[in-house]
Amino acid sequence: MIDLHLHSIGSDGSDTPEALVTAGVRAGLRALAITDHDTVAGVPSFLETCLRERVLGLSGIELSVDTPSGSMHLLGYGIDPSAPSLALALRQVQEGRRSRNGKILERLHHLGISVSWEEVAGQSGGGEVGRPHFARALMARGLADSVQDAFDRFLGRGRPAYVERFRLDPDAAIGLIRGAGGLPVVAHPFSWESDYEVLSRRIEALLARGLGGIEAYHPDHDLERQVACLRLAKKLGLVVTGGSDYHGTCKPHVTIGRVRGHCIVPDDLLAPLLAALPARAGVVGTVSSEQ
Ligand code: AMP
Ligand code: ZN
Ligand code: FE
Ligand code: FE
Repeated sequence: MIDLHLHSIGSDGSDTPEALVTAGVRAGLRALAITDHDTVAGVPSFLETCLRERVLGLSGIELSVDTPSGSMHLLGYGIDPSAPSLALALRQVQEGRRSRNGKILERLHHLGISVSWEEVAGQSGGGEVGRPHFARALMARGLADSVQDAFDRFLGRGRPAYVERFRLDPDAAIGLIRGAGGLPVVAHPFSWESDYEVLSRRIEALLARGLGGIEAYHPDHDLERQVACLRLAKKLGLVVTGGSDYHGTCKPHVTIGRVRGHCIVPDDLLAPLLAALPARAGVVGTVSSEQ
């Protein structure tokens, strides 16, 4: 079993990159990838730990992409974390987050919620600060029952403390990942568009732009959606990936290595994924299934 979708304290997870690897090894994973939102800060220590633990490790990232509707996330596997083009673009995205964070704080103050920046940043463990950290700060104050409740009442799109932020457009995001030697993969595609026919046309349009894969195994997918993604991958010649979207204690209902109940991500996805990453800048270790 493998898990190619893991978040650390670099973004909104609770585990350090090292702890992600040890949790994965303990769960029996043969390969894992770190996919923090908008940052590769955790990649070097993650890969070092994979090497030490003798497990196959892949660098990765998850970018939120600017689309007119829905929520499109793009995973990038095997990226070189030291690519200068990547650092430049991520700085722009992170700046966008910082200016938005100040505006969210102002909105909350206008709503009479006097939560401080220190309380919010204190929830992040030193990584990039995003809405989930605002949600946890509100919970700590007893102003929300859960992260979901905080999004539903304050932080979600259309809610009173919602503020837009800079996002890369799909072409730029795909180009960025390709430029850093990685494989761009559309994450949990149904969050972007729930209608299969519309989704498949949109994904097909991104093929020419350099999209390389589709995440079929994900906790948000029921069996029908999983099968739909597998079918689309076959039709369009896309690499298939999958993972738990583990966030540690920040998403306690998610178990590392599991996507739905006892459903796991099959090892045989690895060989085609690795074959699509000729540069290997962000890959350490090998597994026996890799021929
Ligand atoms: P940000 O990148 O700061 O905009 O935060 C996005 C993250 O917040 C996503 O990756 C989700 O984990 C979480 N999120 C977004 N929308 C919701 C929602 N409606 N309910 C709960 N969590 C959400
Ligand atoms: Zn997240
Ligand atoms: Fe996502
Ligand atoms: Fe994720």
